[in-house]
Amino acid sequence: MNAADTAAPRPSAHLVFPGSSEMARLCRATDWASTPLGPVEQWPQSLRTAVGMVIEQGIAQSLCWGPELVQIYNDEYRVIMRDKHPSGLGRSVLLNWAEIADFIGPLFQRVVAGETVFFEDQPLRVERGGVMEDAYFTFSYSPVRLESGEVGGGLINCFETTRQVHARALQKERDALYDSLVFERSRLEYVFQHAPAFLAILRGPQHAFDLVNEAYYQLVGHRDIVGKPVLEALPEIRGQGFVELLDGVLATGEPFLGREIPAVLARTPGAPPEEKFVDLAYLPLVEADGTRSGIIAHGHDVTAQVHARREVERLLRESEEARRTLQEVNHQLELQRLELETANHQLQEGAVELEAQAEELQSTASALEARTRETEAARAEAERAREHLARVIDQAPVPMYIATGRDHVFDMVNAPYAAMVGRRRDDMLGRPGREVFPEFVPQGVFALIDEVYDSGVPYRATAIPATFDADRDGVPETHYFNLVYQPLLDAGGAVYAVALVATEVTELVQAREAAEAAQRDAELANRAKADFLASMSHELRTPLNAIGGYVDLIDMGIQGPVTPEQQAALARVKASQQHLLVLINDVLSFAKVEAGTIELDLRPLGARELVAGVEPLVAPQAQAKGIALSVDGSGPERRLLGDEERVRQILLNLVGNAIKFTPAGGSVQLSIGGDARWVRISVRDNGPGIAAEKQQAIFDPFVQVERRFSNPREGVGLGLAISRDLARAMGGDLGVVSTPGEGSTFTVQLPAAA
Ligand code: ADP
Repeated sequence: MNAADTAAPRPSAHLVFPGSSEMARLCRATDWASTPLGPVEQWPQSLRTAVGMVIEQGIAQSLCWGPELVQIYNDEYRVIMRDKHPSGLGRSVLLNWAEIADFIGPLFQRVVAGETVFFEDQPLRVERGGVMEDAYFTFSYSPVRLESGEVGGGLINCFETTRQVHARALQKERDALYDSLVFERSRLEYVFQHAPAFLAILRGPQHAFDLVNEAYYQLVGHRDIVGKPVLEALPEIRGQGFVELLDGVLATGEPFLGREIPAVLARTPGAPPEEKFVDLAYLPLVEADGTRSGIIAHGHDVTAQVHARREVERLLRESEEARRTLQEVNHQLELQRLELETANHQLQEGAVELEAQAEELQSTASALEARTRETEAARAEAERAREHLARVIDQAPVPMYIATGRDHVFDMVNAPYAAMVGRRRDDMLGRPGREVFPEFVPQGVFALIDEVYDSGVPYRATAIPATFDADRDGVPETHYFNLVYQPLLDAGGAVYAVALVATEVTELVQAREAAEAAQRDAELANRAKADFLASMSHELRTPLNAIGGYVDLIDMGIQGPVTPEQQAALARVKASQQHLLVLINDVLSFAKVEAGTIELDLRPLGARELVAGVEPLVAPQAQAKGIALSVDGSGPERRLLGDEERVRQILLNLVGNAIKFTPAGGSVQLSIGGDARWVRISVRDNGPGIAAEKQQAIFDPFVQVERRFSNPREGVGLGLAISRDLARAMGGDLGVVSTPGEGSTFTVQLPAAA
């Protein structure tokens, strides 16, 4: 569609496309008749005018005319067209820019409708040299009107801004990078300042301090060193070799690395220098251009570690020496043994023996070595334990102390203890026991403690006496204590201290002693009384028996005839003699029980059998008085542990009393009960009963609710006292439950037999 530039321009074309620009020449040479615009002669004036303006315009413009939007552009617009030029001239913009027709098509519609559109830095994906690429454009499309006022086409003003947009994006990125750089640097600075390792940057041949972190300040005692050459800042390092090292690193670029380098440094300006140890690195500080501008000094203060290690090494050396000494001693022993052995045994036997001994000694030595190590750990543990103990003792509500060593030096004493012994704590602490309490020495107190040391066994005592002056009135008193001397063992199992825990029990002891004395007195008196009664009863029975015997002889008429009146008198003498005998027998057995001389023959006994054996003995008596006597034999068979004779004596006494005190026509019932531990035999009557206030007293000797001597078969009020004593002597008891007017139930309780 483009004609050759060589074609002769027609005069009219020269007017429409003025000037000598490339596009003017190209337009003039174009055969417009073959384009949708038709021959130039037929173009409306408005198109001609607009084309002339565009061609001569100094900025990139393109006119898109007619319904096909045919392009006519100027020289400057060629930059926008790139390889779409020159084929784009006289061609529809929508065909020429087909790849963005979707975007610009609607824009032209708006322009044709009379609107001007403007876009700034609009990204568009355009085809250039056969490839799609992203480009940015700032442009406006404005309507160009015909003489009639209708829109004949659109005028494009356009700049490509791809480079500017990229430049701006780059700038933005650069700004962000710079911000993060600033942030990173401040972070680095923080790390530098707070690093646990010391760091310093030294610059120039004088090694002036440029940057110094906190750890470095600490190392050099917080001196004002920044900006100063190293020898001026830390004068004491002259001659210690550091400056020479720095010079060397700066000159050669070879880093220096050293471990546990001794450095004598002043803690503060002017203070006497101290020896420190540092792990140290001097690294050359290389600038971006490769020059060495200074040195980074970096490292750790390892003084504490070096001291600790030296201490450990010293201890190891010591224990090594100890071990060697021990070996030497062992060696000597071995030699001695060897001499003795060879003197006494065969040479061969001796050699074998010695080998075994040598082995044993060797193992003893290594055990000792292990012990040394353990002791070290135990010592730390013991220190903690000691602090804990001190708190426990201080806060303990009972009197306590801890005393160390054979001298019994008071190590910890709590306030209750000091108060108990009437001393001030400060007068005791740190002093040996024998000095604080000299009066305890003859009382054997320290001998006891020595024994705890020897045996390692705690000493416990209750109510142990100690005489000293607790109330500080100048007169010592005897006090009693419940106490424990507790040995405290060290890691090796040896007693190193003794702890005392004590409570004073003086008042308790005194009260108990008084009670015991009273008890002893009472027992003695009782015993004397019982002895007296026993011998008296015995003495009385002999003449009484003689009286009875002679009465019988007279009654039989052996000494001559007896008148009926005499016989009646003899009968009364006999009855009185019998009564007296009963009384004396009672008194005798009571005295025996009380004196504790009664001998019991304890055996398992069947309760039912016992009760059954009693019944016939009392049945005549009950019958004579018209009393119904019954035995309740129901319930399981129970066996009790007792002396058969004595149990029977108790039952006879209880049943006898029941019959005796129950009026004629009444009833007396025996029954058996109990549980796993006890067997109980009860005698119940429906007699007069016993008043509540008498129910205890009837068990006392010689107590009767009503005194009467009329019936010679009656006792003196000893029966229940004896029965209770017997029951108790057999491990049981005797009691009564009674309601006056209703009756009484006496129950003897005895241990159940297994
Ligand atoms: P004694 O029978 O010699 O009087 P005891 O020691 O056996 O002495 O009894 C003491 C007193 O207890 C009796 O005198 C009597 O007053 C009272 N007593 C004992 N048994 C009964 C009973 N079953 N009913 C009422 N009173 C009794």
